[in-house]
Amino acid sequence: MEAIRRGPLLRRLREMTVGADGSVVPAAGALVNFASNDYLGLASHDALREAAKRAIDQYGIGAGASRLVCGTMTPHLQLERRLAQFKGVEAALTFSSGYAAAHGVIGALATEGDVLIFDKLLHACFIDAARGSKAVVRVFPHNHLGKLESLLEWAQQEHPQGRVLIATESIFSMDGDRAPLRELVALKKRFGALLLVDEAHALGVAGSHGRGLAHECEVHREVDILMGTMSKALGVSGGYLAGRRSLIDLLINRARSFIFSTAQPPALAAAAHAALELLASDEGERLRLALWQNIRQMNAQLPPAPGGSSATRRAESAIFPWIVGDEASAVDVSARLAEAGFFAPAIRYPTVARGAARLRLTISARHRPEQIQALTKCLSGLAL
Ligand SMILES: *Cc1c(COP(=O)(O)O)cnc(C)c1O
Repeated sequence: MEAIRRGPLLRRLREMTVGADGSVVPAAGALVNFASNDYLGLASHDALREAAKRAIDQYGIGAGASRLVCGTMTPHLQLERRLAQFKGVEAALTFSSGYAAAHGVIGALATEGDVLIFDKLLHACFIDAARGSKAVVRVFPHNHLGKLESLLEWAQQEHPQGRVLIATESIFSMDGDRAPLRELVALKKRFGALLLVDEAHALGVAGSHGRGLAHECEVHREVDILMGTMSKALGVSGGYLAGRRSLIDLLINRARSFIFSTAQPPALAAAAHAALELLASDEGERLRLALWQNIRQMNAQLPPAPGGSSATRRAESAIFPWIVGDEASAVDVSARLAEAGFFAPAIRYPTVARGAARLRLTISARHRPEQIQALTKCLSGLAL
């Protein structure tokens, strides 16, 4: 701890309450929130509150056991059926978190002699899951199809009997850019590999009614494993995996984070179900279009970042990396934004590479145009 305290990477917990309008309220006073993954403002939506309250009245709080023992209740099954239908695939399975879903699928599908091929920017939950697996792990530079192709050739030669699993995010969590899903599907088919796509930041954001980027690219039935979380745009908590029935049956039998962990509380499953119904409704689509209106405004007004931008300046998602560079300056910029009334914590190593510290600015459907304008003006005015 002494060493950590001396450096610029000390992390602290902040106690927060959330205002009715989605603002965060730290002890010092309310700040406009540019850090949340609650892209549509569903975390405080009445439809979700009501669904959760009804489920608490009917089922109580805890599930009482793992799904396979006696923790599977009606809300879990209804949610899984609705998720599969919404995603346009045969079946879905829910986990207590996205982190647990990643561990479950990697453990169930990859063992000794198999090969895992990850995009360099793939979320830490997969890196951790791969560490616990006996499979060989290879990483390709971010979105680099040529390097991926060479790795697939290598895997075919060196591990001809092994299963090869490519994993990527559809919208990347810290850079906000997109994976070339159509090209990835073509490659995985050519090499007989499996493709996993983590849609954590695309669900509710990309595709009609927020079905995700795989849907937008019309490859949702060709991606072998669609992963996501209910903790971002759905505004709840819990992870999911979706795909063919045979995949889901295998996960029920082999995914250790599913088998050996207590089921998600039924009220959260009910709230996530309500969130999906909302996405599918006219109101949901209006919220999503309002989000995109705000994303376009941010894209037009955000000044260039001092450390350059790793993502292209196209409005590809609700995530805007504003790269400052060194860790101490990023913390300083964040503090100056807080003084001006905006909440955007510095994102530092190990969440992103050393020297690529940034503000990860996120947009929500609930921002008002003048709030986005004020933030971008404040950033323009910082002498860096
Ligand atoms: C947040 C996130 C996860 C983990 O999901 P939780 O439900 O928060 O555990 C997995 N993958 C990506 C890309 C994420 O951003």
